[in-house]
Amino acid sequence: MKKNPHRPHDSVHSRRTFVRNMTLGAAILGSGAAGALAAEIGEAARRGERRLGVALMGLGLYSRGQLGPALLKTKLCCFAGVVTGSHSKGVKWSRHYGFPERNIWNYDTIHEMAGNPDIDIVYVVTPNGLHAEHAIKAAEAGKHVICEKPMANSVADCDAIIAACAKANVKLSIGYRLQFDPHHIELDRLAREKDFGLLNRMSGEHSWIFSERAWRIEKALSGGGPLMDVGIYVIQAACRGAMCQPVAVTARELPKTNPTLFNEVEETIEWTMEFPGGVTCEGSSSYARSGNRFRAEGAKGWIQIEPAFGYGGIRVRTSRGRLDFPEVPQQSLQMDDFASCVLAGRESPVPGSMGRDHMAIIEAIYRSAAEGGRRTEVRRA
Ligand code: NAD
Repeated sequence: MKKNPHRPHDSVHSRRTFVRNMTLGAAILGSGAAGALAAEIGEAARRGERRLGVALMGLGLYSRGQLGPALLKTKLCCFAGVVTGSHSKGVKWSRHYGFPERNIWNYDTIHEMAGNPDIDIVYVVTPNGLHAEHAIKAAEAGKHVICEKPMANSVADCDAIIAACAKANVKLSIGYRLQFDPHHIELDRLAREKDFGLLNRMSGEHSWIFSERAWRIEKALSGGGPLMDVGIYVIQAACRGAMCQPVAVTARELPKTNPTLFNEVEETIEWTMEFPGGVTCEGSSSYARSGNRFRAEGAKGWIQIEPAFGYGGIRVRTSRGRLDFPEVPQQSLQMDDFASCVLAGRESPVPGSMGRDHMAIIEAIYRSAAEGGRRTEVRRA
């Protein structure tokens, strides 16, 4: 028998919560986006459908450490090609993952993918400032697009990606893997079902020590510092807890401890998001310290996710006790879900509009910090 993936750990959980949580494992696979995924996987398998071919564009750390290995575990898609600046690297990848050498492109030959039946989806995993150019080229080649977070360096670029995908009639999704993680799905459930009341006080931090001279601290390629890179996860969690976009933000950049290294982007930033109905979230993000947590409180209880944003090892405590969830292959689920969207003709639960919304919040945070912490409204679509 299959193990229920959502096991409340403590007896302090009420019977009602226990029963509800017992069913969440089924709910994870039985409702919403992931439910559609489970159904689609079964349906595709019954139809004997071919897996959709994915080409990874950008073979850096994330592709190497996470996405390539994740494509060995997907059920509706497979690793079919790469776009890379280094042909010899592409050859190594083709031998390792077993796709033909003809499916190696470089950044100037993306258009040659058009009409290639092996590739259905292009996954853009290049530096943030190149996402728009690369995603648009992939769409123009007629390929469905997954674009890594942050979607682009500006709302205008996000809009351009959305427009290009609409014009090419291809689907678009953003690489928010935590949309498929059960710990964060539980945050969605608490927000929706209000076990702890309205989650009106939230806080979170995502920080890591980064001290290399690399694209992550070059403004043209990164769009900003830790906020763009990892602080965005706090924004995503807060929007899930509030179930909407904030109306306004206030922010301040902290003094730099290494102004020589961080001469183009912030080193540490703190911000407050104001949501409708008095709901707030205090966020922070830094390249000069570690931090990985998210907390949401209502009148009747709280949930604390810590560590909150990793590929695994996420832990959840609540005012009613600890919750244990299974480790899931976040990236495999994410890519399979997108493949199922393409197969079923449905929209992704992590659509381009979500990436664009988060970019509007980030732009407002940077504007507020630049204007001495002035309350700044978040631009609507
Ligand atoms: P990386 O530096 O390790 O890799 C970047 C890749 O882009 C390299 O292969 C590099 O050769 C290529 N590239 C192409 N043009 C380039 C240029 N002009 N300058 C520099 N590199 C260029 O970075 P990464 O950590 O793999 O991050 C890539 C993207 O993935 C970023 O947008 C990042 O935010 C995102 N990311 C997402 C997650 C996640 O959990 N969803 C995790 C890590 C990274």
